[in-house]
Amino acid sequence: MAGLKGKSVLVLGGSRGIGAAIVRRFAADGATVAFTYSGSREAAERLAAETGTTAAATDSADRDAVIARVRDSGPLDVLVVNAGVAIVGDALELDADEVDRMIRINVHAPYHAAVEAARQMPQGGRIIVIGSNVGDHTGFPGIAAYTLTKAAVQGLVRGLARDFGPRGITVNAVQPGPVDTDMNPADGPLKDTLHGLMALRRHGRPEEIAGLVAWLAGPEAGFATGSMHTIDGGFNA
Ligand code: NDP
Repeated sequence: MAGLKGKSVLVLGGSRGIGAAIVRRFAADGATVAFTYSGSREAAERLAAETGTTAAATDSADRDAVIARVRDSGPLDVLVVNAGVAIVGDALELDADEVDRMIRINVHAPYHAAVEAARQMPQGGRIIVIGSNVGDHTGFPGIAAYTLTKAAVQGLVRGLARDFGPRGITVNAVQPGPVDTDMNPADGPLKDTLHGLMALRRHGRPEEIAGLVAWLAGPEAGFATGSMHTIDGGFNA
């Protein structure tokens, strides 16, 4: 997309899955892209070499590290917060520390990263957080804690859109449904259950999500803010 050429972009959580597709898409569109990773150093370094982007280790569970990474990135035209984990299962059995770590990664990090980015972001800046279609509709048991994190993303998007709108900065969420990644493989055990709930009976591809993120970052989306952009194969229809 011509409008992204030369833009400074930071993707939090870009080493694998949807985040890697976003990094590839922005790089192909001519942006200057940096991304973070935590556990997947080799994958991150391979992706950076392949795409001419910059990878930096930053654990999204560490609030101060996230804030420092965003601050040290300088003025960003686009911030994408993709890093996320899914702790799912019987609510009575889940490990409380694991649940709280998920809340730090999925909720605290996007909020603090967005606020920090806005300090230096120029007019026309874009903040995009990857939520989930479960933020609107849970659909089945075992995902209450994950769902609460993605519902919280909706709140931060609406609120920060109001805060930063007067400065010409937009804040949006992209809410994927099932997408074929390590987190939710298309041939995984949940495949038939998930596809049975969808209008399109297949997983999405990471590139399909990256396309919507690129549109939100581009010039045609200048009037979109405070909104949740669901792309879920009709899961929530
Ligand atoms: P993956 O598990 O395939 O990839 C997750 C990415 O997030 C990796 O790059 C990983 O990096 C990064 N990440 C995870 N934890 C941290 C951390 N503590 N610090 C820094 N980076 C981290 O997941 P997906 O690509 O599927 O998911 C991406 C986003 O999309 C998430 O927010 C997820 O909730 C959301 N989503 C996914 C759906 C799906 O069906 N796949 C559906 C709806 C929403 P590393 O390995 O280096 O730690």
